[in-house]
Amino acid sequence: MTVSPDSRMLVIGAGLMGRLLALALAQAGHRVEVHEAGPQDATGSAALAAAAMLAPLAESAVTEAGVVRMGSHGLKRWPELIAQLPLPTFFQQNGTLIVWHRQDAAEASRFARQMDSTARAMPELPPAQTLDGAAIAALEPGLGQRFEHGLYLPGEGQLDNRQLLAALQQALESMKVTLHWNSPRSPEDFSPGASGQPNWVFDCRGLGAKPQWPGVRGVRGEVLRVFAPEVTLLRPVRLVHPRYPLYIAPKQDHIFVIGATEIESEDMSPASVRSALELLSAAYSVHSGFAEARLLEISTQCRPTLIDNLPAVRLTAPHTIQINGLYRHGFLIAPAMLDVVMELIQNGHSALADRFNLRVERPAAVMA
Ligand SMILES: Cc1cc2nc3c(=O)[nH]c(=O)nc-3n(C[C@H](O)[C@H](O)[C@H](O)COP(=O)(O)OP(=O)(O)OC[C@H]3O[C@@H](n4cnc5c(N)ncnc54)[C@H](O)[C@@H]3O)c2cc1C
Repeated sequence: MTVSPDSRMLVIGAGLMGRLLALALAQAGHRVEVHEAGPQDATGSAALAAAAMLAPLAESAVTEAGVVRMGSHGLKRWPELIAQLPLPTFFQQNGTLIVWHRQDAAEASRFARQMDSTARAMPELPPAQTLDGAAIAALEPGLGQRFEHGLYLPGEGQLDNRQLLAALQQALESMKVTLHWNSPRSPEDFSPGASGQPNWVFDCRGLGAKPQWPGVRGVRGEVLRVFAPEVTLLRPVRLVHPRYPLYIAPKQDHIFVIGATEIESEDMSPASVRSALELLSAAYSVHSGFAEARLLEISTQCRPTLIDNLPAVRLTAPHTIQINGLYRHGFLIAPAMLDVVMELIQNGHSALADRFNLRVERPAAVMA
């Protein structure tokens, strides 16, 4: 099932995965067309709502080793991918700071043990460093001596998701990719390989793929964007919390993303008062400068998630590839997913997928 040069490639869904893949296919010399259900500003994608933290060690508290390995791969690949883009995209690798209030010390110890065991199993990740109050203040002067204990995860990163989506769109336009906005499609609308049809179809619809991939579900996340001129943070700060791992991710110009709830529901209605209060009071408990912040946005989106909360690639018909389940780690793992898919279409097999223990489903009929 390997690809011929100058193939006609059709990508459905232009959120994170669809935009990245469409660009890589165009750069590989293929003729690429994209259908996206929503408008070009990516409204409707999980990618637009996300905080876009790239935190493999921190995420190891909630996921498996394969995803952490994909994240480590992604951290190396993002600078190369961003360097090819025609618009600036904020990316930094300034680590993650984890702090907690005294009442959450037991939860913090559990988290620290998990970080230790991940770092022992994966020597390629820099281990977490234990901080006292003075070390926290030295690392993140804006927080002063507010916290007595913390953890620093060096090397973790973040990027600006909205700049990235805009830059990818511009890159697609300059590569002459045909972009159809407000144009919902299904892989069933196409017969790849037949005359007059695309050679390959790539389904990157996230939660929109649910009708054809019943294991796909949405996990609701509520997230705030604020402008806080009195707050300076040099890196994402996570607050250990008994219910959700809360974070404050600084973007440029004193914009902060505060998130995110994680609720087993596909309800896309606006954020609840309870969630907004919890997120805002958590942010205020980290830095009192958030009291005078301006609320720019309170949004809700669903993370596209598979039954085991792990990502997967499926070959559902000859020359149709579905990519899904990026869940809460999409930005972290998207470069790895991209590299796996490119290997699959080039070689019929992906050594990277084996290394990441990534599920590649291939029904027998498709193998033939
Ligand atoms: C609140 C929140 C915070 C997050 N924070 C982080 C984070 O800090 N770090 C991280 O790594 N990840 C984070 N994520 C996860 C990340 O955003 C997702 O994993 C990622 O966006 C999934 O990418 P995707 O391309 O599969 O889906 P999406 O980005 O959702 O894109 C799917 C696209 O397909 C389109 N579509 C749907 N149906 C159709 C159709 N029928 N035809 C055509 N197009 C269709 C949609 O409109 C959408 O544009 C977060 C997610 C949320 C919701």
